[in-house]
Amino acid sequence: MSDNVILIRYGELYLKGKNKDYFENILKNNIRKKLADINCKLYFGRGRYVVKDYESADEPIILNRLKHVFGVHSTSVAKRCGYDFDEIAELAISIVPQNGTFRVTSHRSYKKYPLNSLQINMQLGERILQAKPQLTVDLHSPQYVLNVDVRENGDVYLYDDSERCVGGMPYGTGGNGLLLLSGGIDSPVAGYMLAKRGMSLSALHFHSYPYTSQAAKEKAIELARILGEYCPGISLTCISLTEIQETIHKCCKPNYMITLVRRFMMRIAERVANKLNCGCIINGESLGQVASQTLESITVTNAVVNMPVFRPLIGMDKDEIIEIAEKIGTFKISIEPYEDCCTVFLPDYPLIKPTLEKVEEQESKIANYNELIERAIENIETIVL
Ligand code: ATP
Ligand code: MG
Repeated sequence: MSDNVILIRYGELYLKGKNKDYFENILKNNIRKKLADINCKLYFGRGRYVVKDYESADEPIILNRLKHVFGVHSTSVAKRCGYDFDEIAELAISIVPQNGTFRVTSHRSYKKYPLNSLQINMQLGERILQAKPQLTVDLHSPQYVLNVDVRENGDVYLYDDSERCVGGMPYGTGGNGLLLLSGGIDSPVAGYMLAKRGMSLSALHFHSYPYTSQAAKEKAIELARILGEYCPGISLTCISLTEIQETIHKCCKPNYMITLVRRFMMRIAERVANKLNCGCIINGESLGQVASQTLESITVTNAVVNMPVFRPLIGMDKDEIIEIAEKIGTFKISIEPYEDCCTVFLPDYPLIKPTLEKVEEQESKIANYNELIERAIENIETIVL
């Protein structure tokens, strides 16, 4: 068993006033589930949670898992001792370096402890100086800060470092959203960003088999799996657009292909979202990135749905999106070279500024419009991740 403990801090929840318990309970549950298969004890104190009594070999695993829990702001690996001041001093002396400048910063959530925070700082500082006379105290910009945390559960934690985690709001506190997940770089990042604000995700992937390969679908499955490390229980629905694309290709002007496909996608997405109890659609559009992401194109594709469509990447540059994709681990999968359904029957000159009137005129050439949508939805495939 390790002598260390892991301290968990949460961020924004303290803004939640009377609803704080609701947010905290979901966060605690998410942490519990994330660590369910690891032999450890969890202690949920006020403002801070603690993982203790785990095997040393599990420490990096626990720290890594906590980096995938939204709502966890930072973690620290700390040494633990009891309330006895001699014991605290002995442990502190064993931790601080031999020389340089230092400061003690204590935090006392157990208010009945006989010393207040200032007294702990001063008395512990003195003991450290006696034992390590080459050290000097610097309160303003010390080289080393020893943090002392006196908890209500009989424990005192000493640590010097903390690691930033993902932050955000606990997963499951922000409603349900349907993520349009292609195999590209942007859409997994878009999903991650809303999940980070607590939204539970279901994913929907469109393919054009046999024009697109099985490998392209596998890519979407793998991306959903990676998102699943942050989004427990995420599901993936796959729908074929093949018949729809063939029909558009046959009936409509070639340069309307992408616009019309995207309107089909949005209509289908809204139907699937309602079925899966999702209150919004999420996509990875970024203004001006491609022809289908101009204001005019977005207006025309947005016009077919009533529920909110969230586009968290709308104001981001590609390199900013890639940075997040690398951080969350989706980038290396996204750049695998399999074609997306949007590239099937790709026109040489897609419309950059479609108008609703002209798009509807093209759409009216598709006689069995609703039938096509019904059939696509009937042949839904749900992937268990
Ligand atoms: P991405 O990198 O996410 O594929 P992109 O830059 O290739 O985006 P588009 O192909 O125009 O852009 O797609 C815009 C958005 O539409 C995507 O971010 C995604 O949310 C959705 N989308 C595109 N293709 C598909 C697909 N095959 N299945 C589901 N959603 C898709
Ligand atoms: Mg794409």
